[in-house]
Amino acid sequence: MVKHGLWKCGSSEEQGESISILFLPRPNTEMASNEGKHQTQLIGHNNLPHKSLLQSDALYQYILDTSVHPREHESLKELREMTEKHPRNLMATPPDEGQLLSMLLKLTNAKKTMEIGVFTGYSLLSTALALPHDGKILAMDVNREYYELGLPIIQKAGVAHKIDFREGPALPLLDELLKDENNKGSYDFIFVDADKDNYLNYHKRVIELVKIGGVIGYDNTLWGGSVAAPPDAPMMDYIIHYRPHVLELNKYLGQDSRVEICQLPVGDGITLCRRII
Ligand code: SAM
Ligand code: CA
Repeated sequence: MVKHGLWKCGSSEEQGESISILFLPRPNTEMASNEGKHQTQLIGHNNLPHKSLLQSDALYQYILDTSVHPREHESLKELREMTEKHPRNLMATPPDEGQLLSMLLKLTNAKKTMEIGVFTGYSLLSTALALPHDGKILAMDVNREYYELGLPIIQKAGVAHKIDFREGPALPLLDELLKDENNKGSYDFIFVDADKDNYLNYHKRVIELVKIGGVIGYDNTLWGGSVAAPPDAPMMDYIIHYRPHVLELNKYLGQDSRVEICQLPVGDGITLCRRII
């Protein structure tokens, strides 16, 4: 069952993306048109103050059924289904977002990439499958056990040779990379999907590591919709805890002249940053 809501929350104390608790009623978007001469039923966003087309769980399910699941690589499907049994499944990248990452990597001809926050590896495998045979991913996570759950599937897919997994907190690893001038401006694509309270710290570092014209993707930047919720709205502690950090990041990125940005409402929101200087 697909869940959409104003914001999501969950029991995880980690950086998980979890269940929706609050659902706004969808406006009735059917309306009569043509000056009342013909009662034509239009389905659209005519009654909404915005232009998002994603109005229902059924619409998201339609996207999955029609465009995502039929094209999902068999190894990604296996990894997704394995992860669905994990108690922290809600941290996993959804398959439509995996498809987006794959498309972006191919469109940009990415070869040298980085991922911060691996979990069982759905976005990692999406990346590994999208890269050319000699492509590389520097993947970081504090928890190797999560990565090892997905590793046999990644190996079976024949793409494990592209992955250099490093266990540990990402910040010191990034600082280590920055000591070598050769690493600066050398990454084509960087996906950040770990501890949200460090996203600005990551940004200060990865902006130097990505090449000019390269892309950084920050995940969960809509934070279950909580970024637009009133501060006194009911939210889980975990949402409340990270929300100021996500808000701060979004504000910072909105004004950072070193990047062009694009906020996409895919998954829990992904902000793409293209380095321009
Ligand atoms: N991209 C993953 C996927 O496709 O399933 C989901 C990543 S999950 C939302 C966040 C991950 O970040 C967890 O696996 C967690 O162990 C990791 N993490 C949390 N804090 C971290 C840190 N300081 N450095 C590196 N990884 C961290
Ligand atoms: Ca995420």
